[in-house]
Amino acid sequence: MKPGSLPGAAARSEGQSGIDSERIFVGKPALYQEILEDGRVQCGLCPHRCLLKPGQVSRCLSRENKGGVLFVRNYAKVTSMALDPIEKKPLASFHPGTKILSVGTFGCNLACDFCQNWRISQEEAPWRELSPEHLQRLAVDMRKDGNTGVAYTYNEPTIWYEYVMDSAKLIHEAGLQNVLVTNGYILENPLKALLPFIDAMNIDLKAITPDFYPYLCKGTLEPVLETIRNCHGQCHVELTTLLIPGLNDSERDIVTLSEWIAAISPDIPLHLSRHHPDYKMREPAPISVQRLRHLASLASRSLREVHAGNV
Ligand code: SF4
Repeated sequence: MKPGSLPGAAARSEGQSGIDSERIFVGKPALYQEILEDGRVQCGLCPHRCLLKPGQVSRCLSRENKGGVLFVRNYAKVTSMALDPIEKKPLASFHPGTKILSVGTFGCNLACDFCQNWRISQEEAPWRELSPEHLQRLAVDMRKDGNTGVAYTYNEPTIWYEYVMDSAKLIHEAGLQNVLVTNGYILENPLKALLPFIDAMNIDLKAITPDFYPYLCKGTLEPVLETIRNCHGQCHVELTTLLIPGLNDSERDIVTLSEWIAAISPDIPLHLSRHHPDYKMREPAPISVQRLRHLASLASRSLREVHAGNV
């Protein structure tokens, strides 16, 4: 999904003045880090398990080794915010017809050549500061506009871990709901600590073939499959596959993918979506709507709910 704009506040980049009065975040240590004796630190948030030297910024842009300790770089930094229909997440079977306050930061732990949101996922985009308490107040105020909670989306929210955790607790305290729109590339322990505060997820399953993730996304498939297994039954889960002609859209790909999902549960909704050429992948052109519908009907042989997206 393309991110929305920043209503009610001018975006700014790190180093600019005009600080939120609730600013309490400078120097927030990262969760899930192991400090080593030689000054390096190992991050334990996602399967990359990065080893960072002093002064080094992580590949996901969310962490930095400052003097032998890993600090968070994106806490409370919001690059994109909008009140979206829940169907845009996409979630088709979780409170349909409602709206959800959607927020994102910058950075990602994958680097997909076809990224549809690369300006915030692969660069430190302009941001405004928004404390978890401020986010909670906004979400509550927007109830009058039909808001049901907060969706952490637009870029990868699991690398916004500390902010999502703090915010999600406050959102639950306010009687609202939390939605995570994620690539699923997170280790089991941090995932399980976050799951009690998450009500629904849309997880990207970019392809079912093992070489797709290393070749196009700088990651691996198995941790994503593990996340899907771990989340099923813990909260409402829907999956999305962005179809790219010649790379993940063969009939065999779709049958294998849908049968893998059905083995967990045939009730998990699947969104098959058309990509548009972007970032490092300016071709091929999107698949035709006709082919998308054909592939959706193939997936429907295994799954009860298959949605064709970006038509
Ligand atoms: S979350 Fe970021 S720093 Fe941590 S292991 Fe993953 S990519 Fe590396």
